[in-house]
Amino acid sequence: MKNYKIAVIQGDGIGPEIMKEAIKVLDKVSKKYDLKLQYQYADAGGIAYDKLGTALPSQTIKTCEKSDAILFGSVGGPKWDSLPPEEKIEKVALLGLRKHFDLFANLRPAVVYRPLAKASPLRQDIVGNGFDILIIRELTGGIYFGKKVLEENFASDEMTYKKEEVERVARVAFEAALKRNKKVTCVDKSNVLSSSILFRKYVAKTAKNYPKVKLDYLYIDNATMQLIKRPRDFDVIVTTNMFGDILSDQAAMLTGSIGMLASASLNDKGFGLYEPAGGTAPDIAGKNIANPIAQILSGAMMLKHSFGLEDESKAIENAVIKVLKKDYRTADIMETGKNKVSTAGMGTLIADNI
Ligand code: NAD
Repeated sequence: MKNYKIAVIQGDGIGPEIMKEAIKVLDKVSKKYDLKLQYQYADAGGIAYDKLGTALPSQTIKTCEKSDAILFGSVGGPKWDSLPPEEKIEKVALLGLRKHFDLFANLRPAVVYRPLAKASPLRQDIVGNGFDILIIRELTGGIYFGKKVLEENFASDEMTYKKEEVERVARVAFEAALKRNKKVTCVDKSNVLSSSILFRKYVAKTAKNYPKVKLDYLYIDNATMQLIKRPRDFDVIVTTNMFGDILSDQAAMLTGSIGMLASASLNDKGFGLYEPAGGTAPDIAGKNIANPIAQILSGAMMLKHSFGLEDESKAIENAVIKVLKKDYRTADIMETGKNKVSTAGMGTLIADNI
């Protein structure tokens, strides 16, 4: 029997509610496929700050170090908004974990499932039968980590990239494309930025090792337009930290439902942190109405990317699609004529359809 240790960090707001449903679904998968999934619960975020005075206790890092992957909820909320910059919940917990485990590749799928095509704010002839884009953002380099100067009358942010930083994220993109539609689009600003010239150069060099994958290029400004005009033409997009930050949120909005979108942040050993794209949703926390699908699909990404369990991962995705096809919806994706279900109700339906 295959045995995996998972560090489970529920966090704040809707985190614990949606995590409970993800565990419900993973338990069903482990029974069906004869896996042993061991959950090690640990605190991070506001809840950890209240208990121990830090959003990322060293005990939590140790638990993660002893695990094969981290399944993460969301952290933060209005209660902790006034903390000083160095104690900011999201920064300490999430950036802390990214840094500690060198999670350099952020994978954000933007998927419109056919039954939810109407949720997209795009025209229906553009959405067609839905689209499935995977945005891969370099996560630990670029302008967010460069030297910063902020003076009274002058400010600057340095944007740097090294060959190795580009090559490793490019490899993640080409490997992912091999398992999908075999197309990578490199998004940069190489008509203006030196760091983008280097980025494009080493994406192109890495492509030589992947002759089956088609590579094309877009400047970031054009990419934002093409993503709206012809989203179905994209497969994998690989881009720098800042452009990926913006582009992945744009793509998320095109799907029309933040509660459906999962994400993964990986290092070069395949270790990863898996979390929903949304935040702690304080406006709906504790009401049993949040959509647990993003958290459930984060679990599916974990099975695929960290444990190599493709069939088990696909089983979760298929169960989600089946439940949507049967017209069950949480409040955020509700349409007239469909059946409204709670957070727990959606989790049970998906587990039952594994
Ligand atoms: P948010 O994503 O929490 O909420 C934005 C809107 O989307 C809200 O109306 C919310 O109800 C809705 N929403 C989000 N997830 C949902 C779900 N699963 N089901 C149904 N509706 C959902 O963003 P925000 O309001 O800007 O941030 C709230 C808090 O979350 C802040 O403290 C922020 O710092 C934190 N946050 C954390 C993370 C993280 O942990 N990775 C990411 C983003 C925001």
